[in-house]
Amino acid sequence: MALTHLKIQEILDGDREHECEGCGDNHICVSIASIAELPTRFGDFHIVAFYNNKDGKEHAAIVKGDVTDGENVPVRIHSECLTGDALGSLRCDCRDQLEAALTAIGKMEKGMVVYLRQEGRGIGFTNKIRAYSLQDYGMDTVEANLALGFRDDERDYEVAAHMLMSLKVKSIQLMTNNPKKMNDMTKYGINVTGRIPHVLPPNSHNEFYLRTKAAKSGHLIDFSGKEHMLEQIDRPVVKGMTEEQVKALYE
Ligand SMILES: [Zn+2]
Ligand SMILES: [Zn+2]
Repeated sequence: MALTHLKIQEILDGDREHECEGCGDNHICVSIASIAELPTRFGDFHIVAFYNNKDGKEHAAIVKGDVTDGENVPVRIHSECLTGDALGSLRCDCRDQLEAALTAIGKMEKGMVVYLRQEGRGIGFTNKIRAYSLQDYGMDTVEANLALGFRDDERDYEVAAHMLMSLKVKSIQLMTNNPKKMNDMTKYGINVTGRIPHVLPPNSHNEFYLRTKAAKSGHLIDFSGKEHMLEQIDRPVVKGMTEEQVKALYE
């Protein structure tokens, strides 16, 4: 059995009744529930199940290599999107972002995708589909986003920070295009030693990034003029984007 597996199993066995004051202002606490091997089309990973006994949410760490006590471990934080991740929806780019992260980390010696099970950035699947429906009836993305009730990012980082601490990861390199996110993780006690730009390979699904003048206030517009919902915290950069297009993502 792989070293990662044994180490994480040991953490789990040593702290079965884990409870702590929690991370951040929201006092988020999650505990490791189980670990198993997970061979995927992107590489061989371990999957770690986390459970939050306060809100009942279950989260996942998709782990490559030996990350326990690891330094400079590449980490990507991804929020669940059923429509994008599993169904290949083109209303957002979540699947492209997730696949790019798994593909990149799958080729690395070690790394991790922190997969947060909070559909629609925490408002739940039903409300997300309600917001899609409002868009279908002509509401613009901003209005639909408001209806969708996107909350700030903090909670995501608190959960992610606790998961990294649970796995005893010593320091990370955050896979993000937004340097500001590094401070957010630091705020919750994570030692962030660097940033790895999250660059998506161009394909027929994310081609819309390349053809657009990219983003106004972070909203991506496809060639039919339709805006896409923002579901991940972090905007992706697609190979081939100009420097201006990349900059425009954060204006
Ligand atoms: Zn805890
Ligand atoms: Zn999505």
